[in-house]
Order: sequence, then structure tokens, then C-alpha cells
Amino acid sequence: MNEIINNTEVKNFIKGSLVRSTSLKREVQIYNPALGQVIRKAYVANSVDVDKAVAVAKEAFVSWSAVPITKRAKIFFRYLRLLEDDLDTFAKIVSEEHGKTLEDAHGSIARGLEVLEFCCGITTHLKSDYSHNVANGVDVYNLRQPLGVCAGITPFNFPAMVPMWMYPISIVSGNSFILKPSEKTPSAAIYQAEKLKQAGLPDGVFNVLIGDKETVDAILRHPDIEAISFVGSTKVGEYIYKTATAHNKRAQALCGAKNHLVVMPDADFDKAADALIGAGYGSAGERCMAISVVVAVGRDSGDEIVKRLVPKIKNIKVGAYNQSKIDMGPVIDKASFERINKLIQSGVDDKAKLVVDGRSLKVAGYEGGYFIGGCLFDQVSVDMQIYQQEIFGPVLCVVRVDSYQEAIKLINDHEYGNGVAIFTRDGGFARDFATQIQIGMVGINVPIPVPVSFHSFGGWKRSIFGSHSIYGMEGVNFYTRLKTVTSRWSTKGTKGVQFSFQKTTDL
Ligand code: NAD
Repeated sequence: MNEIINNTEVKNFIKGSLVRSTSLKREVQIYNPALGQVIRKAYVANSVDVDKAVAVAKEAFVSWSAVPITKRAKIFFRYLRLLEDDLDTFAKIVSEEHGKTLEDAHGSIARGLEVLEFCCGITTHLKSDYSHNVANGVDVYNLRQPLGVCAGITPFNFPAMVPMWMYPISIVSGNSFILKPSEKTPSAAIYQAEKLKQAGLPDGVFNVLIGDKETVDAILRHPDIEAISFVGSTKVGEYIYKTATAHNKRAQALCGAKNHLVVMPDADFDKAADALIGAGYGSAGERCMAISVVVAVGRDSGDEIVKRLVPKIKNIKVGAYNQSKIDMGPVIDKASFERINKLIQSGVDDKAKLVVDGRSLKVAGYEGGYFIGGCLFDQVSVDMQIYQQEIFGPVLCVVRVDSYQEAIKLINDHEYGNGVAIFTRDGGFARDFATQIQIGMVGINVPIPVPVSFHSFGGWKRSIFGSHSIYGMEGVNFYTRLKTVTSRWSTKGTKGVQFSFQKTTDL
């Protein structure tokens, strides 16, 4: 068993070693949310620690960027194998601090490993374009070169997968990297750093800083950091994007969501209901691609879907990750628990119909845990807070509309644009939906359309700031910059001095 599990303090990982933050003034407490108890602590990295990590990463970049691409890829092959050798430990580290079931932790890690598989093929992804003899003796080719020191700031809900959307592509492309994971779930980042070191990554190429806003602000303003990737809430993401770009950095911020699933009158209601249970309540609804709104189209769809959902929601087994046969864990912390309960109450006050109320749920032996049972609201309207806000908890809202066009308008009018799904048997509607909908990731009879690692992930509207999606080729392009080389190697003489611009065909 990895020693991280027995650690009571999480330290930074700088230049291949675990080091405490310089100042011991500010402590963060890391909880097991099923128990509601502190299991570890950390000291917030401040600007001195950020300076240290950046200096180390800057120095490491010089030699790392010169390592042949085949050797860089080889390290990722080894890293992938090392992680695969002991997935149980990795999953346990994720579940203990996040609260999600072990099965779900395994699933999210698997999606992260798929990004590593993509990275193993970096030799192909970074192959350049070459144009031979565009003029007499003149050839043109493209290089994509790494940027330098890049940084990633990640949310609590995917402590393994979301960091893996960032640092592997950045590093294998030749950059060095500083990861600032969520202070609520930091241990998985340290696990990844240790395994990368074991796989042969030179010290200083990957560094982890544990901290919060103080750490992030020092990162955003640091002149030697070239690019920032952020995944988290919209409010913070907008701030990070604006601050990073104001400091002349390349930036991408993938943010909050309110994902709708449209149930058409011709849908297979049983399949749609099963899909909604997983997509709405898996990971206690703490996924940026969780479905939180069902849009029931036509006279009967609402009743058909609600009648199927109710018994399934009541049947969800809620508990701690280390209990057997559990479907759903707690939410992350007391603040989330209270915020979600307040939002549920606002729905009741606004006269939405709370068909299933999971608020009074208690898990025997885990009375201090932040558990909320599955909740279902029917008769929700667009003016309600429970419709407008991202709840990020196990709460599903049913909105009933008369027509397909009304469903499209409703979704397009929402401020968020991360994911969406439609359940139908009609290919015409499905195709039209994929075209008209103003959302970045679309599922057709697929409830959570997270793209596979060789495509790219990203929302639209206020679910993203910046022009690049994350991972896949968008990731490679984000972490590299284009250089175009025009060269003349000719055995014939040149035309002598030319003061004017020449047409290519005259060169
Ligand atoms: P968060 O925005 O609170 O925190 C994300 C990161 O930002 C953390 O590392 C945190 O330490 C840091 N941070 C928090 N407040 C900050 C501040 N004021 N200034 C600077 N840095 C700050 O998000 P969270 O609660 O950890 O995660 C949940 C959110 O993330 C949800 O909104 C969810 O939709 C979103 N999310 C989005 C995606 C996506 O790909 N679009 C994926 C996962 C999660």
C-alpha cells in the first residue's frame, strides 16, 4: 500500500522531492467527506514556494525540451504501465478524499489513462507539415515547439482525471509543468508526481504545489509561466482567464455547467430513465457533465419519465466508498452540503414539486458524513434558482415543454453550454439537434458525452473562457506554438539583391 494513504500531511512536490511550504501560517484541512473528519493537513504554498517551483521548472525545461520526442514518449509508456500495475491504490486515494465510489474512481482514472495512451503517440501528433520546392530550391516546414513552464489549476471533483487532461500532453510536448490541485483532494496529484518520477521523468519537469487562492494568484502573476490551464467553477475561471491573459499568458478555463437531457416523445423511456440515474446521481452529481435538467417534450413524456425515475432514485444505495454495493457517496464538504440543501429549499419555496426528497438521509456509522440522498424536482420553470444555477449535487429537475423547438430555445438560452443529450428514435431530430444546439459536447442517446481522449473536451458560452478545448489535438496545439521555416538550399545561383517582395512563382 502506498505511503500516501498513511500520510497525515500533504507536502509540495518540487524538483522530485516532497517539501513543506515555506510559511506554516496557513493550514488547509483535508477531509474524508463520508466521515466528516479531517484526515490530513497541508500548508498553503505562498509566492516564495511558487517562485521556487517556477525556477526549478524553468531550469528543467531547458534540458527536457531538448530530449528527443521518442524518449519523452517512452517515459509515458512506462508511466502508464506503472499506474496500471496498481490501480486499486490510486482509486483508494481518489475516493478517500473525494467520497466517490471505488468503481467510479476506477472509471475516472481509466479515462485519464486514455489521455496517457494518446500521449504515447506524441511522435505522430507532433509530426509536422512539409512543402517541398514551393519555389526554386525553397522548402517550407512547420515546427510545433513547447512553450516553457505551464501551470494547471484543477477542481476537487476529478483528482486524477482532470490533471491528466493537462500535464501529460504539456510535458510530453516538451514543457515543464506546475500543478495546483484542489486543496480538498490533493493527494492524488502527489501520487501521480511520484509515479512519473519512478517512470524516469527528470526532476523539476513536473511539480505540485498545494494551496488555494494565494497560490493561484502567485502563479497567475508569475512572469516565467507561459500558459495556464484551469478547470473549475465559472466565477473563478473567468477571474483566472482574465488575470492570466492580462499577464500575457496563454490561458484556457473550462468551467461550470447546467446540462440538459431532452426526452422526445418517441424515446425509449426505460433507457432514458436508466441513463438519467447514472448521469444525474453518479458521483453525487458532482460532475461538470452530470445531467441536472430533464427536458420532457410533449404531453406524456414528463409523466412517463418521472414515473420510471422515482423508484430508481429511491433505490440508490448511498454510503461511504469503502462500504460494499454503494452507488453514490457524500458531497465534498460541509459548505457544499449546506449550499445544496439551501438550493433544494429554494426549489420547494418556489413551488417546484419535490417528488423525491433525499435531504433527511442518514448513513449508519457515518452520521457525520456529508450525505444527501437523490432528489427529484418536477414542474420546474426557468425563473427558479434550481434551474438557473449549477447545483453540483444529486438533484435532478424536470422541465416540461410542448415542443422540440421550445426545448432547443430553452437550452440555447441558458448561460452554460458544456454538455447536452437527446434521447430519441428519430434520426432527423437527432441530426437537427446536433446542428442547432449551442453546446460544446452533444450526446445522442448518450447521457454523458465526454469525448474520448483523441477528440477534445470543451463547452461553449460561459462554460469556457479561451479558444482551445482541452486534451486531444486541441491540447497539443494549446501547449505548443507554431513556427514556420522557409529554407533555400539550391545548387543554382540566386537572382542577387531584390528590394521588392517577390511572387512565390518568381522566386
Ligand atoms: P473551484 O472553482 O472552487 O476551484 C477550482 C480550483 O480553483 C481549485 O484548485 C481552487 O483551489 C482554485 N480556486 C478556488 N477559488 C479561487 C479563487 N477565488 N481564486 C483563485 N483560485 C481559486 O471549483 P471546484 O469547486 O473545485 O470544482 C467544481 C466546479 O468545477 C464546478 O463548477 C464544475 O462544473 C467545474 N468543473 C468543470 C469541468 C469542465 O471541464 N468544464 C470539469 C470539472 C469540474
